[in-house]
Amino acid sequence: MTPAIRDALQFCPNLPTLPGVAVRILEMGRDPDVHIGVLAGVLARDPALSSRILRVCNSPLYAKRRTTSNLHQAVMLLGLNSTMTMALSFTLSEVYHVKASHRRTLDHIWRRSIIAALISRLLGEEMGLGSLDELYLAALLQDLGILALHASLPERYGPLLESFETHDGLIELERQALGSDHGEAGAWLMRHWELPERLAVTAEAVHDPDDPRLPEELKASVHCVTVAGQLADFFLSEGRAPGLDAAASSARRWLGLEEAAMESLVDRALQALPEMSALFEIEVVTPQMATGLLDQAREVLATRNLRLMHQAAEHHQKVIEMEEAAELLQRAAIHDSLTGLHNRRHFDHILELEFALATENTWPLTMGFIDLDHFKEVNDAHGHVTGDSVLVRVASVLKKNLRERDYIMRYGGEEFVVLLPGHGLEEARHVFERLRRAVESTQHKGDSGTPFRVTNSIGVASHMGGEHRFEEAIDLVRAADRALYDAKRQGRNRVIVYSGG
Ligand code: GH3
Ligand code: MG
Ligand code: MG
Repeated sequence: MTPAIRDALQFCPNLPTLPGVAVRILEMGRDPDVHIGVLAGVLARDPALSSRILRVCNSPLYAKRRTTSNLHQAVMLLGLNSTMTMALSFTLSEVYHVKASHRRTLDHIWRRSIIAALISRLLGEEMGLGSLDELYLAALLQDLGILALHASLPERYGPLLESFETHDGLIELERQALGSDHGEAGAWLMRHWELPERLAVTAEAVHDPDDPRLPEELKASVHCVTVAGQLADFFLSEGRAPGLDAAASSARRWLGLEEAAMESLVDRALQALPEMSALFEIEVVTPQMATGLLDQAREVLATRNLRLMHQAAEHHQKVIEMEEAAELLQRAAIHDSLTGLHNRRHFDHILELEFALATENTWPLTMGFIDLDHFKEVNDAHGHVTGDSVLVRVASVLKKNLRERDYIMRYGGEEFVVLLPGHGLEEARHVFERLRRAVESTQHKGDSGTPFRVTNSIGVASHMGGEHRFEEAIDLVRAADRALYDAKRQGRNRVIVYSGG
């Protein structure tokens, strides 16, 4: 709150005053030893208040099993706390009626408060909250700040009340024009009146219920009051749908309340409203409006429900698609798209791993570079598409001729690399000779159906499988590459083992 507003409130000569009965009740509330008889005595001195308390006690809102016409008994039946809350709510309601100007707006706000009080209580019940009376009073008094601002800043605040359309619209106007809203002014007035601090904190927080500074133990009740306010706005907006949509969203987000529960809540609230109107002697919602509201609420909530179900299904589908896409990406990162073999990237990783393992355990690791001979000519003679299918077939032939634990990868272009962990040179030479022959004897078909074959050259080197031991994995690769070069130079279509040098 800005200092200017605080000063205006502090030095305002005609702030609403707390009715005398309310002062007495608050004093009793602070006394831990207060006796029901004393409270009944105070109430008895105010006949209007007594008859309202009796009426509450006998009303369906409290659903007591017995009815009574005896005030003392009524206080007993309601209990100390409920009676004090009810008495406070009735006496404080008087402050809404002393102002002569801006009646239309103040009546609207007062009706909103009454509806919100009722709904807060129902919400609190639904949520299993303990302090229903407090919740009721907090909702009833949430907009008290409007009276405080009205009294302390008549010239600046009057025009805002004049152009009042909705509660949330008024908050916007207040923040623009005054730099703070009536929640803070309300909290100030409650502290000034020495009302329980929790009521003041709630009034401050209802307009910004996501504020992280809100104490944990007040969150649930503040959320109930906020949702109740939004539902009250819907009731008073003669059933315009957006208000209900906002309330239903908030109820879902903060209270986990689903549309069906919301519909039943609206129904119960509408049934209880005539009783609230009678208690507070103001027609909150006309019977015709009430019927229309229920129909409208049913329609809006059913549509919302369908939309949410649809959204949930779409969301679920999206998650599945994203998971699939992530899996594909992960696969693509280490696989070659043409042959389906692991790619160079994966090879580098595996080679480092196997090289370290072999060195550590002193077992041999032998590798072979396989390069197709004159592959450029295959492309030239049969086209690139046939060239591709040759690569695919060669890949599958190589794979078929290896054991499960051996590695085969596409190194790039028409080059493949094979890693044989645990194989010495002699053994490996047989494996590679077998591979060379398998590739050579595979028949491919050109575009016109003409059969052709492709030979391959293989360069082999071994880490500790023969005479050589390498410092690093890259040295083994260089050695195999060197042997491949020799195989090409010596006429291709052969297996050559690295001989050093
Ligand atoms: P060499 O016996 O000396 O290895 O002769 P080469 O023609 O096989 O070797 P070179 O390195 O000159 O040419 C390799 C050819 O492989 C050229 C390139 O077009 C072809 N090639 C590389 N990758 C692919 C591919 O993915 N698909 C097809 N169809 N051809 C490819
Ligand atoms: Mg080649
Ligand atoms: Mg090449």
